[in-house]
Amino acid sequence: MIHTEDMEFAPRVVTPENTAEDGDNEITLRPQTLNEYIGQDKVKQKIAIYIRAAKGRGEPLDHVLLYGPPGLGKTTLSSIIAHEMGVNLRVTTGPAIEKPGDLVSLLTGLSDNDVLFIDEIHRLPRPVEELLYPALEDRVIDIIIGKGPSARSIRMDLKPFTLIGATTRAGQLSAPLRDRFGVIERLELYSTSQLTDIVRRSAMILGIPCDGDGAEEIAGRARGTPRIANRLLKRVRDFADVMGNGRITKEIASIALSHLEIDGLGLDSLDRRMLSMIIKGYAGGPVGLETLAAAINEEAVTLEDVCEPYLMQLGFLGRTPRGRVATRLAYEHLGLTEPEKPDGQLEL
Ligand code: ADP
Repeated sequence: MIHTEDMEFAPRVVTPENTAEDGDNEITLRPQTLNEYIGQDKVKQKIAIYIRAAKGRGEPLDHVLLYGPPGLGKTTLSSIIAHEMGVNLRVTTGPAIEKPGDLVSLLTGLSDNDVLFIDEIHRLPRPVEELLYPALEDRVIDIIIGKGPSARSIRMDLKPFTLIGATTRAGQLSAPLRDRFGVIERLELYSTSQLTDIVRRSAMILGIPCDGDGAEEIAGRARGTPRIANRLLKRVRDFADVMGNGRITKEIASIALSHLEIDGLGLDSLDRRMLSMIIKGYAGGPVGLETLAAAINEEAVTLEDVCEPYLMQLGFLGRTPRGRVATRLAYEHLGLTEPEKPDGQLEL
């Protein structure tokens, strides 16, 4: 098994997770206002209305849960919400809040109407999650003082605040926690034209000369994910500097991305290994996720969170109760022929 610790030494170019190379650029490239935030129109429209209404009443925004694959702009949207509300943003992650005491100091440190952003909220330890329920519902926390038989609980009032939780896996959130969010929104993978706009915007901010079709070439291979689009832009810039005059053209982008082993649709070797294993190892499926992960020596969560959303969006992969199946489009993309299906069997 390849463990995440090992993977950190060689992250995939197309990993949607934040990597060291994204570093400071993530902050520079992050849109500051809803107008600058490209795509996700339905979510944006609703959030704009909620913000206006909350500001009009002088109240905090209702608690918001954002879910969807990594790199789609959940953290960015939260910082925009805080910015547009004119309040402070406090950013943390589920696993970083180890003890109830950590949550108490976070919550008591907030000012009126501030936004607390908890990424990977599905990974909050249970006792912390339970402390959060009354905080979300009644703006109070119960603190236990002392130990053993002399322990007693005191109730503390909190200032009004907004919790924004982000998760890649809404299904793993407990029902009591999910129910305490007034707004639950799913972020979708971006279209190529939206990603083209994002690449053009980032190129402008970073001062990289980039042709329109150069931006489109990068966007088309960025798996619907702004973080990947921005990362590919920076990698392609290196090729443009060395192979050309620094301008990103369609041709340079295409050569650079081929060097990075990202194919015309943005699939890299891991996606192709996954699809080939379903096709060649399991006759196109169905095959269970864990079995598949073990067969290609990869973590099941990586396949599920990182490969599958995009492969499913492309229509290359189906999920059935009996496991994953490769579709005809996947066979075609890999240049393989799909075997004849026995009569009466439904095509996917
Ligand atoms: P997540 O929290 O979902 O993992 P982030 O909010 O950190 O994703 O977004 C990753 C990067 O992608 C950000 O630094 C930002 O530059 C870019 N980005 C995300 N969404 C958008 C968007 N809608 N418009 C422009 N850039 C975006």
